[in-house]
Amino acid sequence: MIINTAEFVMSNTDVRRCPQSTLPEYAFIGRSNVGKSSLINMLCNRSGIAKVSATPGKTQLINHFLINKKWHLVDLPGYGYARVSKGAKSLFHKMITDYALKRLQLTSLFVLVDIRHQPQAIDLDFMRFLGENGVPFAIVFTKADKLRPHEVETNFANYCNALREEWDELPPTFVTSSDKRIGREELLNYIDEINNSLSIN
Ligand code: GDP
Repeated sequence: MIINTAEFVMSNTDVRRCPQSTLPEYAFIGRSNVGKSSLINMLCNRSGIAKVSATPGKTQLINHFLINKKWHLVDLPGYGYARVSKGAKSLFHKMITDYALKRLQLTSLFVLVDIRHQPQAIDLDFMRFLGENGVPFAIVFTKADKLRPHEVETNFANYCNALREEWDELPPTFVTSSDKRIGREELLNYIDEINNSLSIN
């Protein structure tokens, strides 16, 4: 898929105020600092469309972007902040779970995971929640350039093995690096194929 246009639409904290549109949505989520903003910028070919921030906890809103006037890319708040209050944590939690469960336009939720780390309970718990509620999702491993190729393979295999302990069938997986622009075509083609199957193009 070629990205011709990527426009910011709106930010809000409430799924009920998300755009009134029937366009399919592809949302991105992960722990803070996982590389979500960098990935969104890479996908959109825009260096600043999603704010790349060194300060964890900055993206605390549901951000909608209109891509090629045909689908929405949604930047969801990161989870797992160490430095925010309990009240703020439960607000994010509600925002994210409401969005995942109530947003009918949600077509696929991409859960981002840093390829360097062992499987983390917070990510596995979130995927379990998605699976239990029938929310379609895929896993996007980030920062592959930070490891040697054989380490990427080992960590990827370990992660899949951890998932197999509780899943009969694994979700789609993508290995990416925003720095080296790895995985961009695969992710965009995946979205394109779904859009084609929905007769969006
Ligand atoms: P977010 O908090 O999930 O939105 O993460 P950011 O996109 O702000 O990235 C967090 C940090 O990781 C920043 O310092 C980025 O430059 C860095 N980063 C993000 N993606 C990559 C990547 O693919 N490769 C490398 N080497 N660094 C990355």
